[in-house]
Amino acid sequence: MRTRKLDCPTCGTMQVFRFLDDEEKAAVREREGPRFFVGNLWRCTAKGCLTYYPQFNKAGYGLLPERFRAEEAAGE
Ligand SMILES: [Zn+2]
Repeated sequence: MRTRKLDCPTCGTMQVFRFLDDEEKAAVREREGPRFFVGNLWRCTAKGCLTYYPQFNKAGYGLLPERFRAEEAAGE
């Protein structure tokens, strides 16, 4: 799985991010509209964090719905 270290505005530190999976993309489209481009969204994998943002646009970050609050660690 592709990951990268990015600055998380919620955690306030550098975290491992990964691309959104299909279920997460669908949830973002539900909120932002069916035309919203979800192909470049990265998600923070820190425990309990729901932050995602478009590549190179941290200011445009959002939070995934609560059901995506995972206990998972970052997987490679
Ligand atoms: Zn985070």
